[in-house]
Amino acid sequence: MVIANSIQTDFTGVLKVSSRLDEEVKLAIATRNDEPLLKEIFDILVKQISEEEMQETFNRWVAVQKEVGFDYPLFWKLLLIILALAAGYLVHYIKLKNLNATLLKLSITDTLTGLYNRLKMDEVLIQQQEAQKRYDVNTSIILLDIDFFKQVNDKYGHPAGDRVLVQFAKVLKDNVRVTDYVGRWGGEEFLVVCPNINKKEAGELAQKLLEKVRNNQFSDVGAITVSAGVSQLEADQSIQKIISKVDKALYFSKRNGRDQITVTD
Ligand code: GH3
Ligand code: MG
Ligand code: MG
Repeated sequence: MVIANSIQTDFTGVLKVSSRLDEEVKLAIATRNDEPLLKEIFDILVKQISEEEMQETFNRWVAVQKEVGFDYPLFWKLLLIILALAAGYLVHYIKLKNLNATLLKLSITDTLTGLYNRLKMDEVLIQQQEAQKRYDVNTSIILLDIDFFKQVNDKYGHPAGDRVLVQFAKVLKDNVRVTDYVGRWGGEEFLVVCPNINKKEAGELAQKLLEKVRNNQFSDVGAITVSAGVSQLEADQSIQKIISKVDKALYFSKRNGRDQITVTD
């Protein structure tokens, strides 16, 4: 209050109050210490003054105009904190987005061959059957199983067998359309789902795939062969039924001497 009054009377226009301390200044009145009675009287009087009266008196004594200026240091500090938080959030968001994309890819990918896994192929079959019902188009499937693969493992070892599977997957992928789905159905069994072609055309594709495999040189083992069953999705047949049909066709190719295809009726 003393400072404020001083500013008002002696430094108007020169000094301004620009901020406020949180300290609360306690006001007091002093009396002579050889007049104890006077102290008591003052005590009683002071207690009788109401808050309003005190404030009114104070206002009469000093009327300081407080100008609130723009606190630039605080502003920059806050801006910096907000930017740091926003940057942190952005980095976190991007990381999470990438992780989710990786997770999604992992959930549908066969880790050894990089082809679609069984889970994804099941989904593809359902989707394709829905599309077939809606748009009345053909979707064919080819189930392939490598011939005598057990012997590959027995003769060259499991890691060599794995390398053959990776190369085999590549041969399939390189010789189908980009719109076809290629997946690892089981150990050394692969499924190709071909939208928009009938089983006769899929049979031709299967023949081409068998030929490509037959003529390919696989590391360690050299030449291998593969057998296939070919079928097409039917609107009135369940996917299990169609898979069982194509599986039988594949079995027929095996029994008939392998390295051949069988198209279901
Ligand atoms: P067939 O001509 O009748 O198909 O004979 P096959 O020996 O290929 O058939 P079978 O189903 O009896 O054997 C398949 C073998 O595939 C058995 C298993 O050791 C092997 N196999 C399955 N998955 C993997 C894998 O991920 N890596 C390797 N290296 N071998 C696998
Ligand atoms: Mg097999
Ligand atoms: Mg086999």
